[in-house]
Amino acid sequence: MDTPPPNTLQRWLTGPRVGPLPSHAEMPPPKLSFEFFPPKNEKLEQDLWACIRRLEPLGPRFVSVTYGAGGSTRARTHETVARIVKETSLTPAAHLTCVGATREEVDEVARDYWAAGVRHIVALRGDPPAGAARYEPHPGGYAQAEDLVRGLRRIADFDISVGAYPETHPAALSPDSDLDFLKRKIDAGATRAITQYFFDTDVYLRFLDRCLAKGITVPIVPGILPVSNFAQVKRFSAMCGASVPAWLEKLFEGLEEDEGTRRMVAATVAAEQVRLLQANGVDEFHFYTLNRPDLTYAIAHILGARPKQG
Ligand code: FAD
Repeated sequence: MDTPPPNTLQRWLTGPRVGPLPSHAEMPPPKLSFEFFPPKNEKLEQDLWACIRRLEPLGPRFVSVTYGAGGSTRARTHETVARIVKETSLTPAAHLTCVGATREEVDEVARDYWAAGVRHIVALRGDPPAGAARYEPHPGGYAQAEDLVRGLRRIADFDISVGAYPETHPAALSPDSDLDFLKRKIDAGATRAITQYFFDTDVYLRFLDRCLAKGITVPIVPGILPVSNFAQVKRFSAMCGASVPAWLEKLFEGLEEDEGTRRMVAATVAAEQVRLLQANGVDEFHFYTLNRPDLTYAIAHILGARPKQG
């Protein structure tokens, strides 16, 4: 007699088991940081400050402010960071790049930050200006992020974060050489790395294994990008070497004109991602907020973050 096909419940009960995800009740509060970009005009400035005020009560370890391509936002980044120091309870981190400036100019920016009370720099090489075929160090400038880290160490006792690429920097010779350069940035004095965003949790976890095998022991904080505009993320990912899994595309399929549903899907996707990371022991998260607080707030809440009193 033929064995009857399994009924629905049998199929469910014999399927692969994943997890367990930690119980929400047992989750220790995560360590959070939030990234903003400096505003281009008055309206965007209001949006940014509404975003900062909304996220401030969650008590992040730090909030970072990006430095526009080619140093184009030098003044605006500085103003934003200085205002965060003066007007909020937050600890700011200023992004700083090597592009388009001499060492002396970059050093001066760093000294200004130190004088303004800023103690944390996110030190980056920066991307070539739009239209340039490839990155060329500025004559007399810092060539790579590693050199910038060393320069900052000479200036003051900054806390220094650097960038890391779980899917390998697009210009790297190989994944292994990219990791060697990450190690060099850390050996030069960086205290943590923050990753490019990724959507496939396995990619990040395998990257941690490779970092550890190289002797890297500082935190490699996952960069989390809540996807509010899928089409834009897809374009940007192609430039920065982050892969967009087919399942993610499928999730946003047909929602081009439906922002409300898109946002709910985005929150669910990011919440699943961070819960999976938490289940794997990760307890620090850096959110690319894109100056929009709601998705980040909701996801941080799911992670166990609650507004601090007072
Ligand atoms: P590096 O670590 O210097 O590496 C860049 C490439 O050069 C890699 O391929 C690496 O393998 C190779 N390399 C490194 N050292 C050497 C060496 N000594 N010799 C030869 N090759 C070497 N960009 C901005 O303009 N403004 C920002 O505010 C900003 N914020 C960012 C924040 C985060 C968390 C991340 C991950 C990226 C950010 N970027 C920003 C983008 C970043 O500037 C680009 O990805 C840039 O192309 C690389 O910067 P890096 O500091 O990671 O480079």
